[in-house]
Amino acid sequence: MAYIEMKNSTKLYHMGSTTITANDNVSFTIEQGELAIILGASGAGKSTVLNILGGMDTNTSGQVIIAGYRRTDIGFVFQFYNLVANLTARENVELASQIVPDAQDARQALADVGLADRVDNFPAQLSGGEQQRVAIARAVAKNPKILLCDEPTGALDYNTGKQVLRILQDMSRKKGATVVIVTHNSAIAPIADRVIRMHDGRVSSIEVNEHPMDIEELEW
Ligand code: ADP
Ligand code: MG
Repeated sequence: MAYIEMKNSTKLYHMGSTTITANDNVSFTIEQGELAIILGASGAGKSTVLNILGGMDTNTSGQVIIAGYRRTDIGFVFQFYNLVANLTARENVELASQIVPDAQDARQALADVGLADRVDNFPAQLSGGEQQRVAIARAVAKNPKILLCDEPTGALDYNTGKQVLRILQDMSRKKGATVVIVTHNSAIAPIADRVIRMHDGRVSSIEVNEHPMDIEELEW
């Protein structure tokens, strides 16, 4: 049995008299410890898939199976960070320790994303890339078994984007976490163990990559 399985999942949004099919019979599996990338243009239905996997939304029909799932096993990195504005970087990451008992030390988690000297800054004092890294530190500090990331490099420059992908690939390779990255940037696909392509609410192809590329070799 697969670790994560989405089976014939359909999500409809009703807007007045029109119905939007955000996900149309979406089916895929992801194995434990994989780094999977869900790739597709804006509006393809990627965030809808991720929100349903994370339990933040429910599908209209179909099944989502996650082996041995507990809510606290999942970390989520949102596209627009979702940091608490009146808490410092360190306090934002410490929120993780209120959710799980064995959370990582917040300072260490921030050091790991290259923000050791910014722990006492508030989100407004940080650049977009730095805020994204705080959001990743917060998700990683929970030691999640599954890490779901919505456009984690969307707002980042080339080098910061690579740094973030390095952290996410390490989560899979070194910590054995299952990492799912949603992106519209096809240049990132070679680093994934599995690439699930979406188009118009549907899965258009699934590709398993026997030799994923190291972030350092990646150019875009
Ligand atoms: P992606 O993340 O690939 O850009 P989304 O999953 O966000 O795509 O959206 C897929 C489709 O569903 C789009 O047409 C979008 O406008 C629509 N959609 C997403 N969320 C909602 C919502 N809450 N209400 C209505 N339509 C939505
Ligand atoms: Mg999206």
